[in-house]
Amino acid sequence: MQIRLAADLQPDSIVDGEGIRTVLWTQGCPHGCKGCHNPQTHSFNDGVLVDVEEVIEALREIKHQDGLTLSGGDPVCQSEACYEISKAAHEMGMNVWCYTGFTYETMLQNPKHRKLLEQIDVLVDGKFILEEKSYDLHFRGSRNQRIIDVQKSLQEERVVLVEKYAEDKKISRYEKPSYMFI
Ligand code: SF4
Repeated sequence: MQIRLAADLQPDSIVDGEGIRTVLWTQGCPHGCKGCHNPQTHSFNDGVLVDVEEVIEALREIKHQDGLTLSGGDPVCQSEACYEISKAAHEMGMNVWCYTGFTYETMLQNPKHRKLLEQIDVLVDGKFILEEKSYDLHFRGSRNQRIIDVQKSLQEERVVLVEKYAEDKKISRYEKPSYMFI
């Protein structure tokens, strides 16, 4: 099996989910969000095709990571390959976050997407909506997007958000924290 990637695995990210993470940049996205930061990842013909086994081996070589983040592009468009890579990441002791323009509810309706959810710990779902963009959000670009605890959601058959990220960041970039006034 192969996967179309936009770039090499990127280790040591601290902005694509909790902790220190390796990012898998998939190529191809159908959503066309206005203001997207990665328009070069939209085409389903660009990027490079790589064997999934090769990606897993490369992931195995990267040390001291808390997790793997599937990003892009939209990783859900290559759900079978992402399933295999995510399963391997779990076997390596990493957690898995996934960014997608699809919603959790839409994913549930597609058997391949539903299967990928079984290997996702945290899903950041929904298109990026420029009018709802905010810098006060944890690990997401616009207010409509949700940070979902996938395994709890599957278990409880309802959307369960990751509570600590459901609210805005405590300290706005425009406010001084209280200790600065001492
Ligand atoms: S889903 Fe993500 S990659 Fe795709 S167009 Fe929207 S912001 Fe860009």
